[in-house]
Amino acid sequence: MTVLDLEQRVTTSPYVRDLMGELNAKNPAEPEFHQAVQEVVESIDLVLERRPEYRGARIIERLVEPERVLMFRVPWQDDQGRVHVNRGFRIEMNSAIGPYKGGLRFHPSVNLGILKFLAFEQVLKNSLTTLPMGGGKGGSDFDPKGKSDNEVMRFCQSFMTELFRHIGPDTDVPAGDIGVGGREIGYLFGQYKRLRNEFTGVLTGKGLNWGGSLIRPEATGYGAVYFAAEMLGTRNETLEGKTCLVSGSGNVSQYTVEKLLQLGAKAVTLSDSDGSIYDEAGITTEKLQFVMELKNVRRGRIREYAEKFPNVVYTAIDPMLESNPIWDHKAQCAFPSATQNEINAKDAANLLKNGVYVISEGANMPTVLEGVRLFLDAKILYGPAKAANAGGVATSGLEMSQNSMRLSWTREEVDDRLHKIMKAIHRSCRETADVFSTPGNYVNGANIAGFLKVADAMMDQGLV
Ligand code: NAP
Repeated sequence: MTVLDLEQRVTTSPYVRDLMGELNAKNPAEPEFHQAVQEVVESIDLVLERRPEYRGARIIERLVEPERVLMFRVPWQDDQGRVHVNRGFRIEMNSAIGPYKGGLRFHPSVNLGILKFLAFEQVLKNSLTTLPMGGGKGGSDFDPKGKSDNEVMRFCQSFMTELFRHIGPDTDVPAGDIGVGGREIGYLFGQYKRLRNEFTGVLTGKGLNWGGSLIRPEATGYGAVYFAAEMLGTRNETLEGKTCLVSGSGNVSQYTVEKLLQLGAKAVTLSDSDGSIYDEAGITTEKLQFVMELKNVRRGRIREYAEKFPNVVYTAIDPMLESNPIWDHKAQCAFPSATQNEINAKDAANLLKNGVYVISEGANMPTVLEGVRLFLDAKILYGPAKAANAGGVATSGLEMSQNSMRLSWTREEVDDRLHKIMKAIHRSCRETADVFSTPGNYVNGANIAGFLKVADAMMDQGLV
């Protein structure tokens, strides 16, 4: 089923139908962007009846149009002296409540539509964090996989040689995302500092001894687990003893598994773009250490986990299959933490069939619209990405505060703030869902709570 079919099936309001029609016509070949907006406007439709002034001010039409889109050439040389040309982007989506804030993604699949969906989601997510941050996203179709450190450095320096003129600590503050971790942030920061002759908090996710914050690397994964714990709390349950499916094996996945271990849950899966592992006995601290070394230092493949530990099943990705085996195991919780649309409708049905009733999305938009609808209809505890994974950007916000004050908080202090923010986001989603008569619907709660703050700021600031 295409996004358009689904739209016909579920959209009731002619206003939303017209809006989506215009959006699709004006932004062709950007299916992920259409999908992200579709999900949000279905929720916002509930608001418009009560707040018709948003319609007059065309707030949604303004929200879906980026304030600025930057697209640029990134030439670089490999270790053999061959010249390569990649495309760089920065989408400055909305600055109503603060400077643009959002990650950079380096992955061959990056294009304008993917970054627009991410930037759009980021606006509402940042609003939910309670911190003053607008939304943006950027990146490149550069693939860091298989490149030497020197090649990655030359690429990052070339990328920043254009980007530096558009960003700044009070204008736009990028961070990491897929393919952009501590190494890349280091090279990007070094080049920014050299070009500007300024040491400022222009990027987050920095190294600890040059302006980074404790807990920032852990924050997205920890936050997604805190969010799941809050959802379970509404049913007087905890994560202890729960079996959890985790996808991906990068930053978000690793710290999701770490926090699950601390809370007495058992993670049994991980994956990368080649395949997934199923470890029925559970991923222990020792096994997680192996994954961190494998992925962050040796930059190897997850199949090596199955070669290293006994009784682990590795399943290679099979593009002919209509569902992903990682979502077809008995479990209570799932933490999709790899990439967009990694759960299709069949996967969603498999998760429900296998007894999963808690889903906390570490990745951005990992579930297709039809899957979201299945989760909502089943009334499970479904924490959508913009709420569940907001801990990463929230802690980036805390890094910005520490940089402005020129001090560093302890690990306990940052973790405590992160935990409180995740609780606040959960409460706000739940209360907002209640106010709009859809109790337990965290999708409506997150979309509407995030939207209202930005919309009101836009109303206050006039037609800009
Ligand atoms: P990461 O460290 O680069 O890890 C990404 C993981 O996902 C890797 O295991 C990667 O496998 C896998 N993956 C990426 N693209 C894939 C694809 N097309 N198909 C299958 N597997 C794929 O990135 P990350 O920071 O953990 O980000 C993961 C997700 O969390 C993304 O959706 C990101 O937007 C979201 N997120 C991240 C943060 C953050 O603070 N980092 C915050 C909020 C949301 P390969 O190594 O084989 O590519």
